[in-house]
This record gives sequence, C-alpha cells and structure tokens, in this order.
Amino acid sequence: MNFKRYTMYKHAIEKYLARHDRHAIRLKAVLFDMDGVLFDSMPNHARAWHEAMLRYGMHLSPEEAYMHEGRTGAATINIVSRRERGNDATPQEIEEIYRTKTEIFNSYPQAERMPGSWELIRQLKADGITIMLVTGSGQTSLLDRLNRNFPDTFAPERMVTAYDVRHGKPDPEPYLMALKKGGLQPDEAIVVENAPMGVQAGVAAGIFTVAVNTGPLPDHALLDEGANLLFPSMTALSEQWETLHSCFGRTQR
Ligand code: MG
Repeated sequence: MNFKRYTMYKHAIEKYLARHDRHAIRLKAVLFDMDGVLFDSMPNHARAWHEAMLRYGMHLSPEEAYMHEGRTGAATINIVSRRERGNDATPQEIEEIYRTKTEIFNSYPQAERMPGSWELIRQLKADGITIMLVTGSGQTSLLDRLNRNFPDTFAPERMVTAYDVRHGKPDPEPYLMALKKGGLQPDEAIVVENAPMGVQAGVAAGIFTVAVNTGPLPDHALLDEGANLLFPSMTALSEQWETLHSCFGRTQR
C-alpha cells in the first residue's frame, strides 16, 4: 500500500462526502462508461466524426470530437452545424450525417479492449462488486461484443444504453437510471469516465466520479468538470485499485 496515494484518495473522498453531506461511500457497484474506458475506440470515433462532417462541408477536428464525446449524435451535429452554418441541422440531415458517421466507423477494424480494463474488472468481481455499463452508444450487438471481451460480466439488467434514456450525457439521466436499475443509492457506487461530458453526468448524478484520461485532452478538461479523482490510464486505476478500494466503506467523518 502506497501511503501517499492512500492519503490522496482519502482526501478526495472526504471532500466528496462533505460536499454531499454524506458519511461514507459504501461501495457496491462500479458504473463504467464504454468508449475510451472499456474499449480503445475513441480514436476511431473521432476520425469517423471528422470524416463524416467533412462530407457535408463542415469542419470538426478529431480533437474537438473528444470534447463532445458522450453527447448524443444529434447534439454533436447541431453544435457543429450552428457554428459552421448558423443554424440547426434538419432531422433528415441529422439522420443522414449520423448514418454516414456510423458507416465510416464500422468500416474501421474493431477497437481493442482498453489495456487494464479486464484486469480491473476481474479485481472487482473478486471483491464482489457489481459491474454496470452506462453508455450513450446504441450500437446493435453491443452485448455480444461485451461478452466476447469481458466474459460473464455484463447483462441487460445492468446496462444503460442510448435506448434507455431520453437525455444523453452530460445530463445525469443515464447515471441516475443506472442507480435505479441497480437499486443503488448515489453513495453506493462510483463512476469511471474518460470524457468531460461523461464526468459532468456522473458528478451531476451525485456519484463519486473517477476520470481516466485515456485520450489526448489535458487533465484539466476532466478535472474542471468536477472529477473527484483522475488516473492517467485504466492500467493505472487497476494497479491502484486495492489502495483506492481500501479507502471506501468506513464512516469517513
Ligand atoms: Mg467514453
């Protein structure tokens, strides 16, 4: 156990508890985002967004795509459309652009499991912690792919996808829905997110939110949204899990 890290994690938890007037995080579940957390899929998404928008005469750099990660397709398209053309895209345009983006994305080789993610999940399983998925993705065959990469881990009753919610991240709805589905209180779970919008959603749901900076954004892009802790990778989080886990569960104040 690394004492310096232990103290740092403890401090972050105490800050969270004071802010929410709670006494302890009694950890029962970890709520995982998918893209950029479980799968190293963000480079493909960012490139597909860039190429799709270009076909419709609009500019969205791959770097900017990382900033929008977690938003619904429609929200991303409208932000760019308003900036580049001064108006919202029509529903037909949104459908067409999003379909193009999906086709481009699907033409790329499937992304690999994020290094460290399976190691962390195996530790959580050994600790008896419930594992849930909270994603804005609405890809078909999502479950098949999850099952291939993370055997015996995910099930529909422990998943929130694009089909379950009306408002995507940064709205707290997806994470609130996960708490509801899991029969959990906000202080019985933590969120693991890689994107600013996702961090915003977890924080707005009142859940202790761990950011993993697996992309090209500066750390402050995640910390500014209120992330309670930040790790440079899923591997780092997996390596530090035992220490972090030991910080939860007792009355802190
Ligand atoms: Mg993500």
